[in-house]
Amino acid sequence: MSTILPGATIGFLGGGQLARMAALAARSMGYEVHVLDPDPECPARAVASHTVTARYDDVEAATAFARTCDVITLDIEQVSTASIAAASLHAPVHPGAAPIHIIQDRGRQKEWLRQNGFPVAPFRIARTPMEVATAYEALGRSIAKTTSGGYDGRGQARIRSTHDLDAAGALTLAATVVVEQWIELTGEISVMVARSSTGEVGTFPLSWNHHDNGVLTWAMTPAPVSDATTEAAIALASSIAAELDIVGLLAVELFITADDTLMVNELAPRPHNTFHATERACLTSQFEQQVRAVCGLPLGSTALHAAGAIVNLLGDLWPTDGQHPAWERALEVPGVRLHLYGKKIAKPGRKMGHLSAVGPTSDAARDAVLDAYSRLLPP
Ligand code: ADP
Ligand code: MG
Repeated sequence: MSTILPGATIGFLGGGQLARMAALAARSMGYEVHVLDPDPECPARAVASHTVTARYDDVEAATAFARTCDVITLDIEQVSTASIAAASLHAPVHPGAAPIHIIQDRGRQKEWLRQNGFPVAPFRIARTPMEVATAYEALGRSIAKTTSGGYDGRGQARIRSTHDLDAAGALTLAATVVVEQWIELTGEISVMVARSSTGEVGTFPLSWNHHDNGVLTWAMTPAPVSDATTEAAIALASSIAAELDIVGLLAVELFITADDTLMVNELAPRPHNTFHATERACLTSQFEQQVRAVCGLPLGSTALHAAGAIVNLLGDLWPTDGQHPAWERALEVPGVRLHLYGKKIAKPGRKMGHLSAVGPTSDAARDAVLDAYSRLLPP
């Protein structure tokens, strides 16, 4: 496999904030960046020298796009595998259609994990409200998640009692649903694995993740967990990445259960919100690592030179009168940086940006971003 050197063009299928930040890293290294996204105003557009507006299942557009690229990667797993396969005829696509096929459907992903012996919460697939009810009878307290189209807690319904069955059953009108047993968590962590086109493998220090209502609020690295948990998490994530034969990045979200065992929550074959602090805290960011991995360059060191943390800026924070949050107040906190994704419309739950900080410990970095965040809230 030949190395794709700076000067070449990296294509991104999906031009969201992940592609935007990876494109910035690619541009720093001297690569050209092309982007395909259905939204003409997508965040990565500002960094790309060429943007194609097309749906993710537009095979012809993917083919024409691939002709302009030397290598292709993605920032979203919802790209159709037909588009990936068509693009692959003209430029290598990392990760390829096979792992994306497994990951892009939540049900297929969970089945694959279970079949390959990776620990997941007990679950059932349901296609009708009746099947959701039967799954709840078998599993007890649980959470229903659509197999496609859901993200950041969307397309999910918690089932605490039979009263919640109507709302959970209604999800089956939109898509097939995974009904998953509710797990009593003591924490959530994630592992980022990079595998290069030359076969080199590297992992980042673990992230500790705090969610509210199913959406990531803040994350910090390194995660405050034991060495044994760290080793087990890295071994688990690395073997999943190897089994999928991923080239590029694989983020593995893990639950830590009450008896201190690990369970896989979900996989993401791309940069991940919980590793944004790597831009500040690690010698190589997740975005640069993605570029190195797909171009066949040596992977960068992921060593920490500080602890780091981020807090997400969701659209809810934006005043309804078209004004902006008072960034100048957040930026008073020493060392805090503002990252905005260039999204013009703020909607509740929409990820608009994040704040980052580094510090001597992950708690200190987390406290700094939360302090900055609190200054953005209405008095
Ligand atoms: P998304 O694709 O929206 O990130 P996830 O499946 O990761 O969806 O769920 C979002 C969050 O909801 C998780 O990070 C966790 O906090 C909570 N959650 C999801 N499934 C379970 C479960 N089975 N038990 C307990 N908490 C869960
Ligand atoms: Mg998740």
